Amino acid sequence: MQDNYRHKGKRQQLVKTVKKKGITDKAVLDAIGKIPRHLFMDSSFEDHAYQDKAFPIAADQTISQPYTVAFQTEKLEIEKGDKVLEIGTGSGYQTAVLCELGAKVYSIERQRELYRKTKMFLNKIGYRPKHLSFGDGYKGMPDYAPFDKIIVTAGAPFVPKDLLGQLKVGGRMVIPVGDDVQTMTLFIRKSPTEFDKTEFGQFRFVPLLGDKN
Ligand code: SAM
Repeated sequence: MQDNYRHKGKRQQLVKTVKKKGITDKAVLDAIGKIPRHLFMDSSFEDHAYQDKAFPIAADQTISQPYTVAFQTEKLEIEKGDKVLEIGTGSGYQTAVLCELGAKVYSIERQRELYRKTKMFLNKIGYRPKHLSFGDGYKGMPDYAPFDKIIVTAGAPFVPKDLLGQLKVGGRMVIPVGDDVQTMTLFIRKSPTEFDKTEFGQFRFVPLLGDKN
C-alpha cells in the first residue's frame, strides 16, 4: 500500500481540476489533496486514479468522480462532530472524505462483498467511521437517527421518506434524484414538517437499488 511523491503530485493536479470546476471549500479540497484515492480502487487503475473520473469497483459498482464527491460534500457544509449518514459506502472514498472533515460517519452498503471489503480496508488505512452496516439504504439507520447531514451516493428514483424523517431540524440532505440522469437535490429541514428544496445540475450515478434488484 504505497503512497509516493508521484501519487502526491497527481493529487495536487486533481485538486486544481476540481477547484477549476467550481469547488471552493478549503477543507474539502484539502481532503482530496490528502486521501490516497489510488488505494480505494483496483491496482490496475492506479495510473488513472487521479483523473477526475468514476471507475469500476467490485460488484458492478463505481467509485464516484472526485468532482461529484467534492460537490456533494460542499453542499452538506460539514462541521466537525456532525453526525452524517451516507447511503452507498462503495469503495469508502466518500466515507474517508467525511472522516477527514471531522464527521461522525454512519454508512450503509447494499452489496455484501463491498461492505466486507471496504470495512476491512478503511480500518487498515486508519479511517474510523462510527458505524458501517450492510443493508438497505432506503430505510436509513433508524437506530442511530437523527442525523445532522445525509448524503446519498447512488441515483435515487424518488426521495425516500425514511431518509427525510431521519434528518434533524436544521439538517441538510444531498441526493441525486432521477432514473438515467439525476438532478442533484439539496433538502434543508426547516421544521418537523417543512423542507427547503434546491436543485442543482445533472449528474450520472449507478442506481440506488431497491428491494427487487
Ligand atoms: N460513496 C461511494 C464511493 O465513494 O465509492 C460511491 C459508490 S457508488 C457510486 C454507489 C454505491 O451505492 C454502490 O456501492 C452501491 O452498491 C450502493 N447502493 C446501491 N443501492 C443501495 C441501497 N439501496 N442501499 C445502500 N447502498 C446502495
